[in-house]
Amino acid sequence: MSNDKVVIIGGGISGLTAAWELTRGGREVVLLERRNVLGGLARSTQLNDKPIEVYYHFICGGDRHLVELVDELGLANDLHWRPGRTSYFVGDRLYPFSTPGDILRFSPTGLLSRLRFGLHALRCRRMANWQQIEHLTAKDWLIASVGSEAYEVIWQPLLEIKFGRYYDRVSALWIWHRLHRLSQSRRSVLRPDQLGYLTGGSQTLLAALAAEITAAGGVIRTGVAATGLACAGDKVVGVESSAGYYEADAIVSAVPLPELLALLPGDSSYARGLAATDFAHVACIRLALRRSLTGSFWVNVNSPQVPFNGFVEYSNLNPWRQYGGAEVLYVPFYLNAGEERWQWSDDRLIEVSLAGLSVVQPEFDGSWVAEATVSRDAYAQAICPPGFSAQVPALRAPVEGLFVLDSTQLYPADRNLSGMIGLARSVACMIAER
Ligand SMILES: Cc1cc2nc3c(=O)[nH]c(=O)nc-3n(C[C@H](O)[C@H](O)[C@H](O)COP(=O)(O)OP(=O)(O)OC[C@H]3O[C@@H](n4cnc5c(N)ncnc54)[C@H](O)[C@@H]3O)c2cc1C
Repeated sequence: MSNDKVVIIGGGISGLTAAWELTRGGREVVLLERRNVLGGLARSTQLNDKPIEVYYHFICGGDRHLVELVDELGLANDLHWRPGRTSYFVGDRLYPFSTPGDILRFSPTGLLSRLRFGLHALRCRRMANWQQIEHLTAKDWLIASVGSEAYEVIWQPLLEIKFGRYYDRVSALWIWHRLHRLSQSRRSVLRPDQLGYLTGGSQTLLAALAAEITAAGGVIRTGVAATGLACAGDKVVGVESSAGYYEADAIVSAVPLPELLALLPGDSSYARGLAATDFAHVACIRLALRRSLTGSFWVNVNSPQVPFNGFVEYSNLNPWRQYGGAEVLYVPFYLNAGEERWQWSDDRLIEVSLAGLSVVQPEFDGSWVAEATVSRDAYAQAICPPGFSAQVPALRAPVEGLFVLDSTQLYPADRNLSGMIGLARSVACMIAER
């Protein structure tokens, strides 16, 4: 049935990739995106009349699906690779933290802790039998592997950067996979990771995809929210939306699981399964600076005077200053819904971020800041406790014609653009084969 009507809900990277695959395969595709801009977590806004991502994005050496898509869209010349330097601010000092030599010289921990930390990271590169750690939390596994000191000084702040107060619930498998993915960005263990970026950021990829979809006859409707799925018996037949009803032979949900849950009619064991996954929210401060703060791309922080666990000096990877005229720095706060800081105003978040940065770099003050903004997303990071694989939803939902794309399906891999492109292509194949 090449004239199948497919409605795609969500205009992030996964919805757009699925829309492109299906449109060029001859399906009649409508994509609904609630916001007025496409891109979801990878969306951009404007700074100095140039697109700038609301959240930092980098590409890893193993991000095969993304690199292939970039090639297919004729964007290979926009993809660049550079060393992504990491530092660690501990107590009152910044330490380089990119190479084995840096780790050996990392004096906030004793020599034995440094050796255990480094050897553990090396072992993770080669470890294939990950089933043995599936039942453990990252905290228990890391303390057993590197000792309490290296865990508390190095690992715990890294977990808190990503999961906020959920940090001690995360599975060991998740952290192992993250180490494994990053190791694929390293040409030699002695050099810093080679990380990738696109000229113009993720927006370059998203805009190219949107243009291809439209050119192939697909319809993209921004500013339109899906409000419910219509079913006949155990089969989907359409989508209710803020712009009316869309008939559908197949529906692709490319929204976070709690958003899908709100669209499903009635109660079901499937809906209750989706509700079991918790998500951390993100509030991320983006600063346009007149000067760079450190020479690093990624700075981890472990200091009682600094109210965050790290920040990202994006223009030390993507030299945004060359075409945008500013140094770009992000301070992410991963928070849970009940946490007081999630309720804080943007001004308050900016104020505490600036105060924290002035601890890291005492010369830093408000005169360095050309612009400060805050972006927020409620479903930024799924929390994956031990045994999480059992609660990951399948690509094909137990309702005929409904397909689901969500970053939990990448588990044990972390959410990432490349993985979502791969999953979206799999869903497009399933629909094409129906
Ligand atoms: C701070 C941060 C940093 C990150 N850094 C990286 C990185 O360096 N590298 C990397 O690879 N990945 C990174 N990611 C992850 C990456 O951004 C995500 O994995 C990816 O963007 C998810 O895409 P998606 O299309 O699956 O979902 P989303 O991007 O969440 O898109 C879902 C879309 O659905 C829309 N929507 C929701 N409900 C409805 C509705 N009812 N009707 C219509 N539309 C709806 C939303 O508005 C949204 O646009 C980062 C994420 C964050 C938050």
